Amino acid sequence: MTTSIPNYQQIVIAVDFSESSKMVASRALDIAQKNGAAITLLHAVEYLSPLAFGDELIPSPDWLLVEKELVKQGEKSLRAFAEEMGLDDATTLVPSGSPSHEIITVAKEKNADLIVVGTHGRHGLQRLLGSTANSVINHAACDVLAVRLQH
Ligand code: AMP
Repeated sequence: MTTSIPNYQQIVIAVDFSESSKMVASRALDIAQKNGAAITLLHAVEYLSPLAFGDELIPSPDWLLVEKELVKQGEKSLRAFAEEMGLDDATTLVPSGSPSHEIITVAKEKNADLIVVGTHGRHGLQRLLGSTANSVINHAACDVLAVRLQH
């Protein structure tokens, strides 16, 4: 029996800037090159503004500035990551929010047919499958490749 890679055309790669991100991206890049697929690199900024902790706090415009700055830094880092991986043509997106929710939403918006994540991220091997990978696998509308990471 011969097996072949499905003809994926729109691939979303979830980048958390952990040590394993390059391995996740290069696995996706392999598939993209074989298929001539378009790539979107995504990093979600996880910023919990103090507003999220209760209503008594008085909203401060400073928190929005912090979030804006984190997104700006994320965009810069993601562009540098794309160039380092030879993915100069890839789309880069840095939304603010929960990583799994943002990954699933962007994949739907992009009509992606494949999402590539690592089995684990910054939190290491605390569980069999990291919470982001787990949630994406359970809720995505397309195929998900969870790249096995050993660290
Ligand atoms: P975790 O669930 O944190 O162990 O991460 C598992 C995988 O989810 C990572 O290898 C990444 O592919 C992806 N991921 C985690 N956090 C983010 C993030 N902030 N932005 C984009 N992808 C992420």
